[in-house]
Amino acid sequence: YSTEEGQAQSGGQKNAQVAEKPSALVMCGPSGVGKGTLIKKLMDSSPRLFGFSCSHTTRTPRQGEEDGVHYNFISKEDFEKGIEAGQFLEYARVHSNIYGTSYKAVEAVAEAGKCCILDIDVQGARQVRKSKLKAIFVFVAPPSTEALEQRLRGRNTESSEQIDERMAAAREEIATIKEPGLYDYVIFNDDLEDAFAQLVLVAKRALSGKQGNGSQSITGPVTLVAEEEPSQA
Ligand code: 5GP
Repeated sequence: YSTEEGQAQSGGQKNAQVAEKPSALVMCGPSGVGKGTLIKKLMDSSPRLFGFSCSHTTRTPRQGEEDGVHYNFISKEDFEKGIEAGQFLEYARVHSNIYGTSYKAVEAVAEAGKCCILDIDVQGARQVRKSKLKAIFVFVAPPSTEALEQRLRGRNTESSEQIDERMAAAREEIATIKEPGLYDYVIFNDDLEDAFAQLVLVAKRALSGKQGNGSQSITGPVTLVAEEEPSQA
C-alpha cells in the first residue's frame, strides 16, 4: 500500500493529511449489537489492511479496556478543551458521556495506508457524512429489539438502569436506518458468520476507495456488485 496523500478538510479549521485510498469504514449500530465483535474480527483477519480509529471518551474504562487501544480515556475538562481547539472530526454526547473522533486518530491510520474503521454513534455518523472524509457508512442492526436486550443483559457490563437507557437509545438508533442519505449498507447481525461475510464484502469496497452516497440500497444480505464502477480519483 502506498500512502498517496490527499487533503481532507473539515469545518475549514484544519487541513488533515489523509490517504486518497482506501475509504474509511464508519460502523454504526446500537450498543450490544455485536458491532465490536465484527470490527475485531475484520481487523484480526487483515491487520495489514485495516486500522481502528481510537476514539476519545470521558467514560470510565471497562475491565480489559486499555487506554490508547480501545479508547483514549480523558476527563470531561480535557475533552472540552479538545473541542475548543478544533481537534475533533466529530463528537457526541452518548449515554451521559462524551465520545469523539480526533483528526489525529483518523490520520494515524490513513497515513499507514490502511482503511480506517470508525465505531461511532449516529450523531457522529451524521457529522462525518457532512465532513470531507471519504467513507462508507454501515449500520449493524439486531434481528429484533428483544434479541438486542437479551444480548445486552447477558453481557453483564452495565447496570439494569444503564441497560434501559441503552435500549431507549437503541430504538432511536434503529429508526435512523431509514434516514435519507445516511447509510450505505445495513447488515443484520442474526448469525455472526453471515454478518461477517457481508461486512467483508463492504470492506472490500472501502479498500478499493469506493464511497457511498447514503442511498442505503442494501437492506438484506449484502450482494457483491459484479461490475464495480471505476473509482473516482
Ligand atoms: P461504549 O461505551 O459501549 O464503548 O460506546 C457507546 C457508544 O458510543 C457506541 O454506540 C459507540 O459506537 C459510540 N462511540 C464510540 N466512540 C465514539 C466516537 O468517537 N464518536 C461518537 N460519536 N460515538 C462513539
